[in-house]
Amino acid sequence: MSGEWLLNCNGDREVIMNRNVYIETYGCQMNVADSEVVASILTGAGFRPVDNINNAGLILINTCSIRENAEQRIWRRLKAISHLKKKNSGIVIGLIGCMAERLKEKVLEEDHFVDIVAGPDSYRELPLLVAGAESGHKAVNVLLSREETYADISPIRLDKNGVTSFVSIMRGCNNMCAYCVVPYVRGRERSRDPVTILKEVEELFNSGYREVTLLGQNVDSYRWNKNGYGITFAGLLEKVAGINPQLRVRFSTSHPKDISDDLLKTIAVHENICKHIHLPAQSGSNRILTLMNREYTRECYMDRITAIRKIIPECSVSTDMIAGFCTETEEDHKSSLELMEWAGFDFAYMFKYSERPGTRAARKNSDDVPEEIKTKRLNEIIALQNKLSAVSKKNDLGKVFKVLIEGYSKRSMEYLSGRNSQNKVVIFPAESYKKGEYVSVYAERCTSATLFGKIIKQ
Ligand code: SAM
Ligand code: SF4
Repeated sequence: MSGEWLLNCNGDREVIMNRNVYIETYGCQMNVADSEVVASILTGAGFRPVDNINNAGLILINTCSIRENAEQRIWRRLKAISHLKKKNSGIVIGLIGCMAERLKEKVLEEDHFVDIVAGPDSYRELPLLVAGAESGHKAVNVLLSREETYADISPIRLDKNGVTSFVSIMRGCNNMCAYCVVPYVRGRERSRDPVTILKEVEELFNSGYREVTLLGQNVDSYRWNKNGYGITFAGLLEKVAGINPQLRVRFSTSHPKDISDDLLKTIAVHENICKHIHLPAQSGSNRILTLMNREYTRECYMDRITAIRKIIPECSVSTDMIAGFCTETEEDHKSSLELMEWAGFDFAYMFKYSERPGTRAARKNSDDVPEEIKTKRLNEIIALQNKLSAVSKKNDLGKVFKVLIEGYSKRSMEYLSGRNSQNKVVIFPAESYKKGEYVSVYAERCTSATLFGKIIKQ
């Protein structure tokens, strides 16, 4: 690894390693949380996280495999940073996370500048893998585990906002959605010991954080059962919310087949559990939902939305939609648009179907919707969602929201930015308030993405 040298007591030159580690994170919130675990493991081994890639002796790219374009972006990034290694061959470059798991040794064949390949369950091995790379041995560890949750590791927060944080409560996924690579790259579902979750959240609160988002691929299936003690997700949520009323709690992602009325009732009765549910629909067509192996029908999905509206009337709902899944017809696509319109989603993540090697869809179905049709359908989905998002914001005008301040607005230091319980971004004049504080904001105007208002003193 790169470094300066000095003379030791025998008069020999000894290299002082550059122990700065730069971690670049791609993909979902889970990867953000994982990078913080990696930072903690490496700090324990004498490394120091840095913000500037040019100061690093160890560069780790935490990767995403969910769609092909996510991987292509990472290949481009690796190419772009190869000049650092050409300038200083002592630098160690590691590819970690989902793409590392999916491609394994192939990464080393594709990119000769990569020294380390580590899957999501092998982060504890990173200090050893780096040591191997320092002595000139390229290192790969992509073993998946049935137990690893990194429960005992206190993540080092790499974000700089100091107000909101992610807390991983489980890993892996047992649902085999036909399009999805997650179960293959992140392994079987396992829940994390609730005692360690509560400890982590308490520590966050005590160091000034005011919002946590509990993360899992399907949080509704969180379950802990050991030594006669059992707890479900609703129970865990309640315990986290009980840490302090000044702490907001969010969670992601819920699965339409598993989200129960009990959970909705828990959300409804606790003021500090945010009134926002991310409930990916993926499609509005029963034929496509079956092919996707989502294990719910359009009617079941609608039933869950109806239950949310009834039990938590002020709740916002967001979703994920996929355009152009295998065999999708114009009629199937129209069913998706109709479902979106019916649900009136407040927000959505929208994607073109991307075939992932090894998944059930890649093995059994043909990726037969032409690219230009996928693009057309995605554009229609996006246009509809823009309209729905605008309606959702307009319905908020004239209301007062409790907003947690996250920092200055991107455009001006005279304005602050935060989110309300429904996860909508709210911008307002800063006055003398600062991040981490709660304020009541009267919503005066909006765009389809943002509410603008003024602070109301109560
Ligand atoms: N576990 C969550 C769930 O079930 O909704 C999220 C999983 S994934 C990280 C986030 C989203 O990516 C999915 O909800 C889906 O819409 C999208 N996605 C996953 N695989 C995809 C693929 N092969 N092509 C396009 N979109 C995909
Ligand atoms: Fe992928 Fe489905 Fe698991 Fe979500 S629930 S991670 S979409 S397999």
